[in-house]
Parts: sequence; C-alpha cells; structure tokens
Amino acid sequence: MKPARCSDCAAPLCYLNVFEHAPAFCPSTRYEEEIREASREVIEGGLAEVARVSSIVEAAGYCKKTRVEEIMDFASRLGLHRLGIAFCVGLRREAGILADILEGNGFETVSVCCKLGGIAKEEFGLEDGEKINPGTYEGACNPAAQAMVLEKEGSELNILLGLCVGHDTIFFATTNVLTTVLAAKDRVTGHCPLQPLYLADAYYGRIKNPQ
Ligand code: SF4
Repeated sequence: MKPARCSDCAAPLCYLNVFEHAPAFCPSTRYEEEIREASREVIEGGLAEVARVSSIVEAAGYCKKTRVEEIMDFASRLGLHRLGIAFCVGLRREAGILADILEGNGFETVSVCCKLGGIAKEEFGLEDGEKINPGTYEGACNPAAQAMVLEKEGSELNILLGLCVGHDTIFFATTNVLTTVLAAKDRVTGHCPLQPLYLADAYYGRIKNPQ
C-alpha cells in the first residue's frame, strides 16, 4: 500500500469534504473511522477550547496579523496571562524584545535560556571531538530543564524562540504546558527555514541533489 502522501495531492478535496475522486493514498478515505475518533478526543477532551479558539484566531488574523500578534490573540482568548519564553542563547536579544512586546500588551512573562544549569555536553554523552569547538568547555542545551522551570514558574503558554532541531523535540516531549512556536532555529538562513525550499531549484540545489 502506498503511504499517505498528501504532499502529492493535486487538489485538497478534504478542504471541501468531498472525496469521490480522492487519490488512493488519501488518508481521509483510508482512516475515516480513526479520524473521527481522533477528532472526537479533541472535541470531547481537554483541548476542545484550544481547538475552538485556534480557529477563531486563524479567521480573525487571516493575512492581517503577524504570528506574534496571533500568539497574543490566542493567549488572550484562552485567558492565559503568564507566558513562558523558552529561547536559544543565540536569540537572547530577540527574547528581550519579545518579552517587552508581550508585557507592553498586558501579559506577564517568564523566560528561560537554553543553557540553564551550565551542564557540560560531556554529561549528555558527547565526546570532546563531537563538540563545536573541541578542547573547550561547551554548555549543553537543556530543553527538558527549560520546560520544567517554565512549568514551575507558572507559565500558562510556552513560546519557543529558536530552539535547535532535536532540542525542540525534547521540549515538546517533556512539557506539560500548552506550547506554541514563534521561530524555528536556522542559523544559516537567519531563522527562515523555508528559504531553501523556495530556492531548491536554484542556489540550494544541493539539498535536492547532495551528490
Ligand atoms: S487528505 Fe486526501 S484530499 Fe486531503 S490533501 Fe490529503 S490526499 Fe488530498
């Protein structure tokens, strides 16, 4: 059986809920019952209000509001006042700007840098030669600790700001707090990770054809 491949779909029929001509790889037709069950878990579970408010925020800000504004709208409509910023040490300036913006809009903020605790990378099992600069002390990013501190500090909504690939994975896997993302880390593109996709047939051709 061909795997589900929405990325190959010529027309997203699911948008209109009409599936007569759905392709063979369409997950909407393949998992009809399971999709209803997953949806029911949201509708009848603790995320019902998040689902409702998400759609309201989407419509209210559609092509008008930036992501920062949408995050504030989302938090406001859910009645979440204390916002936690989990940021990368390389984006500490941006974290300060974000905190100022959130507080200027009436929110409280708590924020935690990725390097908190000063744990050496060796404690996470790295060999010296696997570090960015071998032979020197390098503090490890500690996303599980970021998540823990933000929870203890009463964050009602976490905002990720530039956590590394994999570190964000650990954050999502360990936090118990509602979490959204303002920016994904991409050192090479100025944190615009879609840039190489737009230029995949030109300057970033190496991504499609590594040889
Ligand atoms: S769910 Fe089906 S109709 Fe929707 S994008 Fe995927 S393949 Fe296309």
